[in-house]
Amino acid sequence: MRYLSTRGGDPASAAEAIVRGISPSGGLYVPESYPTIEWKNGVRGGYLATAHRVMQAYLPETESSELEQMIAAAYKSFDHADVTPVVKLSETEHVLELWHGPTMAFKDVALQMLPHLMRSSLRQTGETKQVYILVATSGDTGKAALEGFRDVEGTHVLVFYPHGGVSEAQRLQMVTQEGKNVDVCAVYGNFDDAQTGVKQIFASKEIAEQLAEQGWRLSSANSINFGRLLPQIVYYFTSYETLVARGEIQPGEKVNFCVPTGNFGDILAGEYARRMGLPVNKLICASNRNNVLTDFFESGVYDDNRPFYQSMSCSIDILISSNLERLLFELANRDDALVREWMQGLKEKGIYALPQSALEELKKTFSAGWCTEEDTLETIKRVFDETGYLMDPHTAVAQCVYERYVDRTGDATKTVLLSTANPYKFASDVLGAFEPAGKDDFQNADRLKEFTGVPIPKSMSELLGKPERHHDVCALTDMPKRVVEPILGKK
Ligand SMILES: *Cc1c(COP(=O)(O)O)cnc(C)c1O
Repeated sequence: MRYLSTRGGDPASAAEAIVRGISPSGGLYVPESYPTIEWKNGVRGGYLATAHRVMQAYLPETESSELEQMIAAAYKSFDHADVTPVVKLSETEHVLELWHGPTMAFKDVALQMLPHLMRSSLRQTGETKQVYILVATSGDTGKAALEGFRDVEGTHVLVFYPHGGVSEAQRLQMVTQEGKNVDVCAVYGNFDDAQTGVKQIFASKEIAEQLAEQGWRLSSANSINFGRLLPQIVYYFTSYETLVARGEIQPGEKVNFCVPTGNFGDILAGEYARRMGLPVNKLICASNRNNVLTDFFESGVYDDNRPFYQSMSCSIDILISSNLERLLFELANRDDALVREWMQGLKEKGIYALPQSALEELKKTFSAGWCTEEDTLETIKRVFDETGYLMDPHTAVAQCVYERYVDRTGDATKTVLLSTANPYKFASDVLGAFEPAGKDDFQNADRLKEFTGVPIPKSMSELLGKPERHHDVCALTDMPKRVVEPILGKK
């Protein structure tokens, strides 16, 4: 299987695509075709077996037994036997919990696997350089990457996060990170600024040369890396298989998936699952007040000339949704010149527009909506009062958007709601849905537990009392310097 760049250039092997993270032309790697696999009637082999079937189809050069070992090692850190369990909320709705990994958010599903894929890919490509993993995070990717790559030989990780733009639990998770090869720096700017800064560093020949002289090459753990996307396709299949096994749906029956969306990686994995033969009716793209994607799915115009809002669902606070480029590539019938043109428009004017035919194609599968902060809080409280199920703000955004989708369309298709974070990761905001919350995240978590009875995850209580090890804050313009310093030995 070859991988093509959305902006043209030579195709790559899976291993090359994973090691590089981004293509030399600045495009994202996509598979040259979508392998079809049979979903199984039932959960016979469970998560690991389905993960093996899905990932092997995209990684034909990786030994089957090696892949099996990598998957077993990646998911043993999850605290649930199903890895990503499915919880029934109502006759039509099921919640897919993606946050049973070590950092309490869905990024673990991919980032516990990526270091294994990276190591295997380095071996396959014969790469002799060490790999410098550069990450921009809106909160969750950073910790998951630090945890996934910590003390992995031949790698170094640097995470940039927006100063003041992440929750207290998210910040603590990152700044208390232990490990010999990990580094964390806040930046004065929002997530888009940080992500743009990282992309510029990737595009800099000068930085690449400086690092290469010292025996290093840059790679990405952001969801632009195909190795991030691939493990996420799996849970679309496992959740479907679970619903069949439980008799909630008939084999072959179409389902909806509703996804709180930022960089478009999670929901894109659902589109890949659909292209692989999973019976999908609609993929519902849920946003908060940063509703650039809602507008895009309605009008076909992507326009990031708008204010950036900080919200309590901060992991989906975004204006530039990188993985959308992979969908655009398909909408352009894989015409990389057209993708380059759109991306040029985005870079220069912050805007591009799809032709009408592409918009119509898009609407066949995708629906979109957004909600406000008040809606998010109202949803958390109402769902808990009605069902006893406690949602984090991201999951609540998806829930609110889904309910409105049903009101608008009357669609009674069984729906899987992707729950992307444990509610305690955002304890203060979640408590605020019920009563005025104090300033201290941990006291708020205790209070939340008191009246909801939902247990506090161990990794949350362990955060308290860990020393803060990473104190750096830098200006956006200093990001390149901050990247090369540790390698050139000036730090
Ligand atoms: C990253 C993240 C998302 C958004 O996923 P994308 O793949 O960027 O669309 C949603 N919720 C949480 C909690 C996240 O950490």
